[in-house]
Amino acid sequence: MLATFAANQKVRSLYIHVPFCQSKCHYCDFYSVVITDRDLELWHQGVKKELKLIAHASKQGAYSSGKLKTIYYGGGTPSLVPPTLIGEQLELINSLFGIESDAEITLEANPGFSSMGSFRDLGINRLSFGLQTASKDLLKTLGRGTNVVAFVTDVLNAHKLGFSRISADIMIGLPGQSLSDVENTLDLLLDLPIGHISFYSLTLAKDTLFGERYSGEGYILLPSDELEREMYDLVLRKLTAGKVFPYEISNAARRGEESKHNLVYWQADSYLGIGPAAHSYLGGIRRGNPSSLRKWSNRVEHLFDTYQDTVSKTGSREEAYFPGTVEEIIDENSARQETVLLGLRLLAGVQYDNFEYRHGVRLYDAFSRQIDKLISKNLLVRDAESIRLSRTGLDFANEVFREFV
Ligand code: SF4
Repeated sequence: MLATFAANQKVRSLYIHVPFCQSKCHYCDFYSVVITDRDLELWHQGVKKELKLIAHASKQGAYSSGKLKTIYYGGGTPSLVPPTLIGEQLELINSLFGIESDAEITLEANPGFSSMGSFRDLGINRLSFGLQTASKDLLKTLGRGTNVVAFVTDVLNAHKLGFSRISADIMIGLPGQSLSDVENTLDLLLDLPIGHISFYSLTLAKDTLFGERYSGEGYILLPSDELEREMYDLVLRKLTAGKVFPYEISNAARRGEESKHNLVYWQADSYLGIGPAAHSYLGGIRRGNPSSLRKWSNRVEHLFDTYQDTVSKTGSREEAYFPGTVEEIIDENSARQETVLLGLRLLAGVQYDNFEYRHGVRLYDAFSRQIDKLISKNLLVRDAESIRLSRTGLDFANEVFREFV
C-alpha cells in the first residue's frame, strides 16, 4: 500500500453501478444496456460476489474499510431494479461492512418511478432524479423517454412518502436551447421540494448519436460559448436567489443538503466501486471495472472461484480480488495535484490546513508558481484560509486545472 493519506484512510463510501436503461439517450456515453430479466440476474449475482471479494480484500489488508457512511446506486437507471434485489444487496453490504445508522443512501431515478415506497422502506433516503430540461421539445431532442408531468408527480410523491432529500439533474448548452428554456427549468425546480440541483453542460461524446450529429457542420446548432456562459451565470444567480447555494462547479444545495457521497470524490478520499464500468480508489490505486456486463461478470465469477488458490499460491492480494484494471497509482506528487484539482471544484476551495494535514507540506510551498500566476490572471482568489476559483475562474476552470497538471 502507498504511503499517501488517501491510501491509508478507512474507506467509508460505496458506489454501485446499475448498467440498465429503458432506452439509450442520444447524448449519453455512460455504460448501460437495455434491461432484460436475464441481464438483471447476471448483474445482481455479480454484485453480490464482487462485494464478497472486496470484503475479503479488506480483511486481508489490501486496503482498510470501516462502517459505510455513504452508498450510491448510480447508472444507468437504478430505479428500474426491483426493490427486492436492492434489499438483498443492502443486507449483504451491512453484514460485510456495516452501514452507519445515519448513512446517506442514494438511488438515481428516472421520472415514471413506481416503487418509491418500497425503496424508502429499505433505507434509501436520498433520490436523485434525471430531468435535464423542462422543455418538451428539448427532451425529445435528447431522446429522453420521460416527461415533465411524470417528474413533478414523482417528486411530489417522494416528498409525501417522506424522502427529505431529493436532487434533480439539469443540462445547459443543449442544441437549440435558449436562456428562457433554462429559466423555465429552474423556475420549475425551485417551486418543488428539491434540495439539491446538479447542472451539467452538454459534452459531445464519440460513439453517441449527438457525437455524430453535432460534429463538423452540426456544431453550429449548439449554443455559442458566450451563450453557454450566460446560461451558467443564470443558473448560479437564480439558484442562489432561491437559496439553493452552488457549492461545486456543477452542484448546488440548500444548506445541509450537499451530497455527502460526491464530496468524497471532490475531497480526493478513497471509495469502493462495484459493478460494470465502476471505478474505485483503494489503497492509493484507481481501478476501473470492464465496461461490459458480460466481461465484468465473467471476471468476477473467475475471481470468486479462484481467489483462495491465487492467494495461497502467489500471496498476491491485488490480483486475487479486484476485477478492475489498474488505471493510476496515486503517489504523493499525484495526490497533492488531486487535492488541488478536485478541491478547486468546490466553491469553498482548497483549505491550507487540510492540505498540510494530508500532505505534510504547505499548499503555497507546493504550488507557489501556479497560484501566483492564476491570481494575477484573476482566475483564482486567495484569503487567509484557502484558495478558490474566482467568478471568472468558474467560467474558465479547465484553464486553471491545466496549470496544476
Ligand atoms: S437514462 Fe441516463 S444513463 Fe440511461 S441512457 Fe439516458 S442519460 Fe444515459
